[in-house]
Amino acid sequence: MQSFSFNRATSINQAAHLAAAASTAQQGAQVRFIAGGTTLTDLMKLGVETPTQLVDINHLPLADIGPGSDGGMKIGALVRNSDMAHDARLLQAYPVLSQALLSGASAQLRNMATTGGNLLQRTRCTYFRDNVSACNKRQPGSGCAAMEGVHRTLAILGTSDHCIATNPSDMNVALMALDATVHIHGERGQRQVPIGEFYLLPGQTPDKETVLQPGELITHITLPPPLPNSRSGYLKLRDRASYEFALASAAVVLQIDNGQVRGARVALGGVGTRPWRSPEAEKVLIGSPATALTWKAAAQAALQDAKPHPENAFKVELAKRCLIHALTTVAQTA
Ligand SMILES: Cc1cc2nc3c(=O)[nH]c(=O)nc-3n(C[C@H](O)[C@H](O)[C@H](O)COP(=O)(O)OP(=O)(O)OC[C@H]3O[C@@H](n4cnc5c(N)ncnc54)[C@H](O)[C@@H]3O)c2cc1C
Repeated sequence: MQSFSFNRATSINQAAHLAAAASTAQQGAQVRFIAGGTTLTDLMKLGVETPTQLVDINHLPLADIGPGSDGGMKIGALVRNSDMAHDARLLQAYPVLSQALLSGASAQLRNMATTGGNLLQRTRCTYFRDNVSACNKRQPGSGCAAMEGVHRTLAILGTSDHCIATNPSDMNVALMALDATVHIHGERGQRQVPIGEFYLLPGQTPDKETVLQPGELITHITLPPPLPNSRSGYLKLRDRASYEFALASAAVVLQIDNGQVRGARVALGGVGTRPWRSPEAEKVLIGSPATALTWKAAAQAALQDAKPHPENAFKVELAKRCLIHALTTVAQTA
């Protein structure tokens, strides 16, 4: 591991200032905030992340969950994943979020992992993490070993000729279906980004994953009030029952009235280069009868643009079945 300097921030302003100052003082300086450390320290040990400065944000007042100004909820960037999953207010209003969180990692990891760190967790693509193979995300311009290599777990939606790495998060898929907003604090002030605009497609620059600028700190996320009379749920399919990332997952929010779908929000995990919202599926669902035929048509629409590689072609059918099962289950929820 290469040496780095370490600072503990005592205020939000100071955290943003420390990060911005280091970025401007030293060309090529890589500053990283450290929260739970469950992803960052792994990647530092592997030599994939090589920050020159770490800013510890664990002492900042960002660990609260509370009501938002619009009747929704506000969740601090340092809220641990386990606390978010078990918060009674969130559980009642947004079951999909709790289910997604509890399907991820292990209890120990969820006790450490934070909202901000989960939003920014990096791909589990083997070639990104091995620090030897060609990887445009880790080393821009070096190529993508996954294209011709082992890519069974990698993405089929939103890919480019430069990268097929999957966004691994479960929480982010639920946040997509809930229309969350990410709140950001930087030296130049504060801004809010709808989660649908937060993640970038890989295109020719897979190393750029989000719209965050160097030194910007995520302070919290907000969730709008749940859709009236809606029900929601998360289904994750994986190689083993726990402690494993999704091969395919689906987050679903449905409003059903008199057997008709009035409102729908659908997001997929394990298959996209970013947490994957599917307006195509939602278009099919809204205004249609809440029947098996509709679920099937929605799944067909969600995967219509899939571009699989030989080893992950099975994900097209798997993701369809995952979404159909999630829609069926959520529709039957009281
Ligand atoms: C064995 C294992 C299994 C796992 N399985 C799953 C799984 O099944 N599903 C799943 O979704 N996840 C899984 N994870 C990933 C886990 O959810 C993440 O490691 C965790 O959410 C990261 O949170 P953290 O607080 O530890 O982040 P850190 O490691 O502290 O930080 C991660 C990144 O976020 C940045 N960062 C953190 N907070 C902020 C902030 N407030 N503002 C700006 N930048 C910030 C850091 O600089 C860093 O780049 C697994 C992890 C492990 C190790």
